[in-house]
Amino acid sequence: MRSSLIGKIEKARRYAQEPERVTFTSLTADFRGGHNVHKVSYSEGKWQCSCDFFSQWGTCSHAMALQQALEKMLPEEACVLPVTAQG
Ligand SMILES: [Zn+2]
Repeated sequence: MRSSLIGKIEKARRYAQEPERVTFTSLTADFRGGHNVHKVSYSEGKWQCSCDFFSQWGTCSHAMALQQALEKMLPEEACVLPVTAQG
């Protein structure tokens, strides 16, 4: 019993080094921006953020930051960074 749990812990440690194994289908986060905490979420292919910029532009620094931070764990269609902003 105990030894099988130890095996799982070791496996988890290996998996944790391989974020590409994981794909978020949805997520919700509190994002501490420069001035306020914003609610950022991703669900069914769409990002949402509670900041003013997002409501005008459909994207914002908070959503883009999460896309970069979680790049390997998001489905391809979730990464909507403008081409010019990459690299
Ligand atoms: Zn935002």
